[in-house]
Amino acid sequence: MARGFKDKLGEGGFGTVFKGNLRSGPCVAIKMLGKSKGNGQDFINEVATIGRIHHLNVVQLIGFCVEGSNRALVYEFMSNGSLDKFIFSKEGSINISYGQIFEISVGIARGIAYLHHGCEMKILHFDIKPHNILLDENFTPKVSDFGLAKLYPVENSIVTMTAARGTIGYMAPELFYKNIGGVSYKADVYSFGMLLMEMAGKRKNLNAQAEHSSQLYFPLWIYDQFGQEGEIEIEDVTEEEKKTVKKMIIVALWCIQLKPVDRPSMNKVVEMLEGDVESLEMPPKPILYPHETVAEDQRTNLDQTMLSDDYTGSYYSVERETSSLMENIA
Ligand code: ATP
Ligand code: MG
Repeated sequence: MARGFKDKLGEGGFGTVFKGNLRSGPCVAIKMLGKSKGNGQDFINEVATIGRIHHLNVVQLIGFCVEGSNRALVYEFMSNGSLDKFIFSKEGSINISYGQIFEISVGIARGIAYLHHGCEMKILHFDIKPHNILLDENFTPKVSDFGLAKLYPVENSIVTMTAARGTIGYMAPELFYKNIGGVSYKADVYSFGMLLMEMAGKRKNLNAQAEHSSQLYFPLWIYDQFGQEGEIEIEDVTEEEKKTVKKMIIVALWCIQLKPVDRPSMNKVVEMLEGDVESLEMPPKPILYPHETVAEDQRTNLDQTMLSDDYTGSYYSVERETSSLMENIA
């Protein structure tokens, strides 16, 4: 299928992705997973669940392959690749309009809402970020990559975690800190908010190379902009586009509230995005992290994170923090 694994599409935290062709014609993406530690039951559970769900905005698993310790997942091929290259556009790269960006954001929200509320299991993704949103030939967004996903019976609202992982810059604060609330589907809402903010700003939320130091962290800067002007300034956009961007930013600000209870559900997010900007209330200013609950060693970690320029690429294992998290949940 992969013709000797010649055509590599990319590499992530869980394996390498190659392009392939089904005998019947269509292109596929084949993800070769790294060697598993356990007996592979996790992999089988994942295939059995993710393989059964269908949604326009969730990437479709076509099949899988297990041979000895080799495991591969076969997905429908997404010809436009991942979202990051469209929103963090450099000169010369493809530019997509705010209208398109907005449509993509609504699609992503619908996909996540389906995972949370639309199927018999609650599926928490835990790694929502631009790299994990794939775009098909029509720029329909598909949530991908369930390597970190956890499945819960619908009635279980708070999650127990043995090893929480995710990507710095998108991980919800309750994964780091005690006393702001348990880990739940609201962690995905936070990650979506960070993503939505980046889509609206067409920039990384944290950019050490920002022109002015006040613009280092986009969510706080944009919040103050709203406060001072009641408006935002964007060059070369129509009034309509301006409204759209404003709506995306207000929704994003709600999603990245520090406390999980203050964030909306994904169903509510979809509703807010589909509605009028005038009907949205301004949320309280987002707080970055709760000083008083941070243990000394955790603070060091966070500071390093905040200083790191290329923070979206790195994984951060919070296994160490998990014991305190478990205490908190108990
Ligand atoms: P992470 O491990 O955090 O998910 P990642 O998303 O970059 O990081 P992978 O999910 O392994 O890593 O994917 C690597 C790359 O392969 C993606 O960035 C994307 O460009 C490409 N890719 C993955 N799945 C598909 C697909 N179904 N169709 C087309 N390209 C894909
Ligand atoms: Mg991925």
